Amino acid sequence: EASMQKEVSATDLKECKGFKGHDMLAPFTAGWQTTDLHPLVIEKSEGSYVYDINGKKYLDSLAGLWCTALGGNEPRLVAAAAAQLNTLPFYHSFWNRTTKPSLNLAKELLETFTATKMAKAFFTNSGSEANDTQVKLVWYYNNALGRPNKKKFIARAKSYHGSTLISASLSGLPALHQKFDLPAPFVLHTDCPHYWRYHLPGETEEEFSTRLANNLENLILKEGPETIAAFIAEPVMGAGGVIPPPATYFDKIQAVVKKYDILFIADEVICAFGRLGTMFGCDKYSIKPDLVSIAKALSSAYMPIGAVLVSHEISDVIYSQSNKLGSFSHGFTYSGHPVSCAVALEALKIYKERNIVEQVKSISPRFQDGLKAFSDRPIIGEIRGTGLILGTEFTDNKSPNDPFPPEWGIGAYFGAQCEKNGMLVRVAGDGIFMSPPFTISPEEVDELISIYGKALKATEERVKELKSE
Ligand code: PMP
Repeated sequence: EASMQKEVSATDLKECKGFKGHDMLAPFTAGWQTTDLHPLVIEKSEGSYVYDINGKKYLDSLAGLWCTALGGNEPRLVAAAAAQLNTLPFYHSFWNRTTKPSLNLAKELLETFTATKMAKAFFTNSGSEANDTQVKLVWYYNNALGRPNKKKFIARAKSYHGSTLISASLSGLPALHQKFDLPAPFVLHTDCPHYWRYHLPGETEEEFSTRLANNLENLILKEGPETIAAFIAEPVMGAGGVIPPPATYFDKIQAVVKKYDILFIADEVICAFGRLGTMFGCDKYSIKPDLVSIAKALSSAYMPIGAVLVSHEISDVIYSQSNKLGSFSHGFTYSGHPVSCAVALEALKIYKERNIVEQVKSISPRFQDGLKAFSDRPIIGEIRGTGLILGTEFTDNKSPNDPFPPEWGIGAYFGAQCEKNGMLVRVAGDGIFMSPPFTISPEEVDELISIYGKALKATEERVKELKSE
């Protein structure tokens, strides 16, 4: 994920014991090899806030990377980790050996996910590994069924599914492909369901959804339905722009996918556990997936963990095949890591005890309506979102077709203004994304909106200046 850059003095960096930003090949960061670029070094977190090494406090509007759902210092998660570290810091889950926290977490997840009845949970360390695992599960399944040609995947333009070779291939973002010889040849991309940007003149949301479903069907027919194994989608697209689906989209897409015996994979890595005001994104949009990827809020990000939920149909085939052929030879040393599982179990317990879904539902109108009230401002193209996720796109003339010149860096300028005023946002080009902790208070939402307003005013001034130059 692109990170904000900030000037810090040499003393600041020295105080950050032994850390030299340039020793680290930083993820999704430009110019890591240069000597004049200093990272913003975060040292401490507290509720919805983080502090940098100079003690400056920021409202963390992205909850880390869309993940610290319970905020920065939930003592129960720390206690759960410490208790597990003191009992059994590690044991693996290979060869029919495992640990109690991993078994308990699998059981809990299968009970929590109700959009379809799932049979098994497979543990990974990340969302990327979850999506790579999806591809291997689907291939193994189709090989077992004697359908060796049913191997292609369809994902969507602007989707984000991770940055390993396969998950980056599934992702529909050119930056993840360029210079990496990706996407892999078995991945196809279909339309991004962004109504504001891509609808035809006079086309309603429903008509737009119908057209996209028809395009998907045409792609399947062109390739041959016998070659298409699965379709993967985020319920609300995250890193590609925070794009909630247009009306009737998932109903129509699911009908097409079903017609051609294509599996549906829901990438719930951002949406799961309450982000959208429902326990899962699938609940919100009546998605009935065969496979589900989760990560991030699963442990409120206190420990790395992801998981894949597998339907009965798929798990039955895999089990019967592996009884014949030997093990399902896929897994990671840390699949079902007991400390990660113990923390995730505690996070799920907290979500239920505090009725986190209701909490998000009740705070989200303040967040959504408060920010969408800026929609009429001249430099804003669109503000979109649902629950506790929201994206802003800056364009000229309120049109999707009039971007500001990239060299003006309007998104980055807005981000820097937020930072100056004590808030961290995610900047991607001229897009700004926010997904605060589920625990954000009404006063903190008001503060978030107030800083957003200040940054917007400053950015409008900047645009005026640039236009008059
Ligand atoms: N899927 C989605 C929808 C994501 O948003 C992300 C991460 N932003 C991933 C997968 C990849 O997860 P990770 O970074 O944990 O590998």
